[in-house]
Amino acid sequence: MVRHSRQRDAVLANLCSRYDHPSAEDIYLSLKPEMPAISLATVYRNLAQLESDGKIIRIGSGGTARYDGNISPHYHLSCLQCSGVVDVFMDDDCGICEKAAKVFDGTIISHSVLFTGYCSECSKKRG
Ligand SMILES: [Zn+2]
Ligand SMILES: [Zn+2]
Repeated sequence: MVRHSRQRDAVLANLCSRYDHPSAEDIYLSLKPEMPAISLATVYRNLAQLESDGKIIRIGSGGTARYDGNISPHYHLSCLQCSGVVDVFMDDDCGICEKAAKVFDGTIISHSVLFTGYCSECSKKRG
């Protein structure tokens, strides 16, 4: 059990130290050299646990899930060119949960927005 929480701490620390919104496999590959015993399945399990604890955010981007250790409210853009996921910070809450609650009779807890387009690097390259 102790070993499991140590691995979870390592997964969380890795995720919080980077801003590239890695996939589970990216995290696994970067932890493997220092934690040879870690497996991809363990990384997935720890990510699921951290997500349900509200410590990380999962970003669905066309198949492969990407993860974010920054849980402050912000949005993401998935780049069509380099497949990168970058942060989009907006000051104001767009009120979409309230708007959706008016037309939906279930319970809305949160929402996520994924923009698609080109990151700033790729936009520059495209001219
Ligand atoms: Zn890009
Ligand atoms: Zn983010």
